[in-house]
Amino acid sequence: MQKREQSFGIQMLTVQPDAKPKGCAGCNRKIKDRYLLKALDKYWHEDCLKCACCDCRLGEVGSTLYTKANLILCRRDYLRLFGVTGNCAACSKLIPAFEMVMRAKENVYHLDCFACQLCNQRFCVGDKFFLKNNMILCQTDYEEGLMKEGYAPQVR
Ligand SMILES: [Zn+2]
Ligand SMILES: [Zn+2]
Ligand SMILES: [Zn+2]
Ligand SMILES: [Zn+2]
Repeated sequence: MQKREQSFGIQMLTVQPDAKPKGCAGCNRKIKDRYLLKALDKYWHEDCLKCACCDCRLGEVGSTLYTKANLILCRRDYLRLFGVTGNCAACSKLIPAFEMVMRAKENVYHLDCFACQLCNQRFCVGDKFFLKNNMILCQTDYEEGLMKEGYAPQVR
């Protein structure tokens, strides 16, 4: 599966005092600040380059922006709206975009699939879980596994 993200870098430039002010692509006014942002081959006020969804200033968020259908978006909103979520690491079935997922490191899971793979305990937000060999484990099973493998101090 090919994944092409429509991401673009954002540069922050210092405005040379003697340079002719550039027009902002967001508000169409001249940029008279000390700094300006360059993105998509256009110039922007720091305040004008914003995510169309959440209004966050994109010059600050990792300095990458995403575009799709004439929208300028932050990475989070781009992925939320257009991202293909991928395959569930537990059942290997595709997770459609828009569906709520659980994430652990690089893996995504259906909500229903996110459970300890040994005892099937489900997790709530904030619960502790562990990843081992790509298996989700509850704390009990994780610690038991460590004991068996002798990582934990052994009693002789
Ligand atoms: Zn502006
Ligand atoms: Zn956003
Ligand atoms: Zn699944
Ligand atoms: Zn368990």
